[in-house]
Amino acid sequence: MASFRTLDDIGDVRGKRVLVRVDLNVPMQEGKVSDDTRFRATLPTVTELADKGAIVLLLAHFGRPKAPTPDLSLALVTKPYEQVLGRPVRYIDWEVDQAGVASLRPGDVAILENTRFFGGEEKNDPAVVDRFARLGDLYVNDAFSAAHRAHASTEGLAHRLPAFAGRAMEAELNALEQALGKPERPVAAVVGGAKVSTKLEVLRHLVAKVDHLIIGGGMANTFLAARGVKVGKSLCEHDLTGTAGEILDAAERANCTVHLPYDVVVAKEFAANPPSLRTCNVHEVADDEMILDIGPAAVEALADVLKTCRTLVWNGPLGAFETPPFDAATVALARTAAALTQEGSLVSVAGGGDTVAALNHAGVADDFSFVSTAGGAFLEWMEGKELPGVKALAR
Ligand code: ADP
Ligand code: MG
Repeated sequence: MASFRTLDDIGDVRGKRVLVRVDLNVPMQEGKVSDDTRFRATLPTVTELADKGAIVLLLAHFGRPKAPTPDLSLALVTKPYEQVLGRPVRYIDWEVDQAGVASLRPGDVAILENTRFFGGEEKNDPAVVDRFARLGDLYVNDAFSAAHRAHASTEGLAHRLPAFAGRAMEAELNALEQALGKPERPVAAVVGGAKVSTKLEVLRHLVAKVDHLIIGGGMANTFLAARGVKVGKSLCEHDLTGTAGEILDAAERANCTVHLPYDVVVAKEFAANPPSLRTCNVHEVADDEMILDIGPAAVEALADVLKTCRTLVWNGPLGAFETPPFDAATVALARTAAALTQEGSLVSVAGGGDTVAALNHAGVADDFSFVSTAGGAFLEWMEGKELPGVKALAR
């Protein structure tokens, strides 16, 4: 049994008003939804509740409004959401249209106005929690991506109404538990991306948890510098080499093997396929060169590490993957991880905005066991933090 309450525990919802916190914060381009991934993630929960005769009231934020403004009204996404859901969806500005909520029938689905139009939402103001709570009988949180914030609609409500995790939240929590909570060993973590400074807490947490820590991306340069390697013009946080050294020491004490690249792909200018492109040993980087990807020999060695592992958690690309050919290492290692997952020897969980983009670019996002699109919440989970919105759902 899960450590949190799910829709399996909710009982009979027929005719009950269920407030469902979802993530409808989709990207828009020229007034159109440019990526409806977040809409699709809500479908299992919304469909299940509506089919069981609940009155489904969707609570969500949209953008970062300081005050109510028509261009961040959830009215804008109601039609596009309805198309994805495949059944009618009402938009209700319930502050002014209280009769709108009262008129809903079992099986109806409505989107309520942007939770952040209420000043107290982000302060978890009890008065705002009360106003939301009066609208419903039950509360379901299906927005893992907002669970790192203790807001009225993500945390406060769970203490005011009977509270349950939705299906997307449940799947995400189960995958994360399998990856770092009680993982099958050995466990490998890949941490990449631009800067060490944004992921210090992640690294500190992981060295105590995983058997292999694979460091790539720009942040590997800071670790290489900490070991006395000259990294030339590479992106490198020289002021953090001491901290990087401490992390390496902590890993050693915890019996965590840290893998830094021994060959790298360098160039004198950051551009697609630059003439100065070459692959070299990490000890051969010239003063006017920068490291933009880890090298093929390193990738081959890392693939061999993954073959010995049962679990993988991945955040951050291994190189500047947006610019060819600096996507090569990320693509190759992601494909290895995907193949091992498909063979059944590896549980693979990945997350992070650019990581998801990189896995899509490699064409393997669907072949990982689980890919989290949660961004900030995923990183806080990788830091070992307890997320307030999740904690509030505990049994
Ligand atoms: P995520 O969003 O998945 O958490 P990050 O935002 O931490 O990932 O890092 C992604 C960025 O890191 C990408 O834009 C990528 O170009 C950059 N990056 C990776 N390796 C390097 C490198 N060697 N030099 C410069 N930038 C790099
Ligand atoms: Mg990013």
